[in-house]
Amino acid sequence: MTGSAAGGSPAGAGPTDTDWAAAVAAVRELPATARVLLICHVNPDGDALGSMLGFGLGLRRLGVRQLQATFPGPPEVPEPFRWLPGSDLLVAPDDAYPDPDLVICFDVASESRLGDLVDRLDKAGSALVLDHHASNTGFGGIHLVDRHAAATSVVALGLLDRLGVALDAEIAACLYVALSTDTGSFRFEATTPAVHELAARLLATGIRPGEISRKVFDTRPFGAVRLFGEVLGRARLEPAAAAGRGLVWTYATRADLARHDQPAYVLEALIDSVRCTAEADVSCVVKQAGDAEWAVSLRSKGAVDVSRVAMALGGGGHRFAAGFTGRGTVDEVVERIRAELSGALLPA
Ligand code: 5GP
Ligand code: MN
Repeated sequence: MTGSAAGGSPAGAGPTDTDWAAAVAAVRELPATARVLLICHVNPDGDALGSMLGFGLGLRRLGVRQLQATFPGPPEVPEPFRWLPGSDLLVAPDDAYPDPDLVICFDVASESRLGDLVDRLDKAGSALVLDHHASNTGFGGIHLVDRHAAATSVVALGLLDRLGVALDAEIAACLYVALSTDTGSFRFEATTPAVHELAARLLATGIRPGEISRKVFDTRPFGAVRLFGEVLGRARLEPAAAAGRGLVWTYATRADLARHDQPAYVLEALIDSVRCTAEADVSCVVKQAGDAEWAVSLRSKGAVDVSRVAMALGGGGHRFAAGFTGRGTVDEVVERIRAELSGALLPA
């Protein structure tokens, strides 16, 4: 058992020296023939893909030859991340090693986020979990879970450093995407001096932050611009929700996407346009994922712990950014959120 698992909550104090040593040993002691499978969460974002591919490139530099990266669900990588170095490691979930020697999970807070790939975890020789969610359930064998890390990529770089992998521009580009997406371009509270020092290390490899940000944050198809106009036009403000802190929310259906000929990933950026509402602490976007299934994004400006709301409804995340999968109609899903909000207020 690892130090953090023995100490109780794996998301408590962050990885111990014992945890780091166990993770280093798990990689270093791999036989030359070992098959290593990297997995990030369903519907992957910049941190999931960036930390996974950046670490994968590091493993490749260490001489790991049988190496795959994957994620559950449709195997399409969102357009903003298709250029990431290391993308050649990606395989469809069905093609992933059925019984890898080592599985490494990135940005995955719970087994449910692994979808059908959870069976690889069961069949793997050992499993290493790199994450930064306070809601991490402690699944897997060796835990490198640091709830204070701004992104999973911070943990990934911590392990690459301990493995003696030299940072190069390809690895740095992946880790920079991960760090800049999860910190909202270095705007969120988790943006500590250490985050900027880490960003400085990444930039020192010669990567181009302007070019990366344009690809990742500032490019979307015209159809998505028009779709956003429609979806933002139906946003509702409920000033009395969350004990008067206010809720703003909207929703997007698959029909909305089809009408504008857009893939689902374009909706991931919507929450950033909704959460700027001055009159609401909590913001929410409800995105249709199935006939009566909705992927819900929640954000808070500080008055509400939205991870408590999300966990109560079967999901997880961070205090100020969380999500869950809701079932039923949009109104039923939003009603469940309203009901949880006042119980999730943080002390003033
Ligand atoms: P987003 O709204 O950007 O999809 O997710 C915000 C945060 O909530 C992320 O840290 C993400 O991992 C977490 N999250 C989103 N959806 C789910 C979900 O369905 N289950 C769990 N456990 N976490 C989620
Ligand atoms: Mn993350």
